Amino acid sequence: MNSKEFSNLLLKNKFLVSDGATGSNLIQRGLERGSSAEHWVLEHPEKIKQLHMDFIDAGAEIILTSTFGASEIRLTQSGLEENFMLINKNAVSLAKEAIKNSNVLVAGSIGPLGQMLKPFGILDFQEAEDQYAKQADILSCSGVDIIVIETQFDLNEAKAAISGVRSVCDIALICSFSFDRGVKTMMGVSPTTFFEEMKEMELSAFGINCGKSLQDNLEALKELADATDAPVWFKPNAGLPKIDAYGNPEYDVSPGKMAENVATWIEAGASIIGGCCGTTPDHLKAISASLKAFI
Ligand SMILES: [Zn+2]
Repeated sequence: MNSKEFSNLLLKNKFLVSDGATGSNLIQRGLERGSSAEHWVLEHPEKIKQLHMDFIDAGAEIILTSTFGASEIRLTQSGLEENFMLINKNAVSLAKEAIKNSNVLVAGSIGPLGQMLKPFGILDFQEAEDQYAKQADILSCSGVDIIVIETQFDLNEAKAAISGVRSVCDIALICSFSFDRGVKTMMGVSPTTFFEEMKEMELSAFGINCGKSLQDNLEALKELADATDAPVWFKPNAGLPKIDAYGNPEYDVSPGKMAENVATWIEAGASIIGGCCGTTPDHLKAISASLKAFI
């Protein structure tokens, strides 16, 4: 699906529901700490597929592949680099099996590389660009409908990501930043700067995901939506985790509380809504029901 087709779909539907979290839900379903969703693509594919199906049942119209940490360089950190191609291909297959013959879109998820770019880290721009290009090439050849570059915090890395993806395919592309220091990223990037720096890069939507509190996510959304007329992708996290007696994260925002905020998010300018960390299928069902009230 190219950019034009994606914007036509959004015009037709007015709003789209994306999915909830991958990592925190897989932890609830038994993923051990220190392991990753990418491990489970190979070891427990049925659980990845089930999570996709649960989100679709809850109302998701876009689901993200379990490939957030599946760049080659990031897989190297967990010893999975030999399976780089297989993990990305299989993750797309699992998402496609989950949507069956429905109109749900499969979005290829690409997260940060886990290494900073120079001068803060060791990667130069070209290396970063190549990493994103390689992963996007597999995702697009495997048949994703769109690509979402998520949880970005550094302008340089995001630019490398976008140009890397663009060098191998021209499907609809969304870039989403994590403003987890209030309304700035850990590198001090504001929503306005994000838009200003990326506005010439032909993105289908500008996104916010995985910030801090719902209030901080909302402030970031308002600032971004004020800066742009482009569609805004919004996946706030369900609050911050507290660690329970078993060492597992528990999120403090209930499905009802998330759903109560949907009207405010729409008013603030969000047009594609889902949730990040802590957002379960129950949260998404409540969000989706609230959103449907506006259509
Ligand atoms: Zn998150």
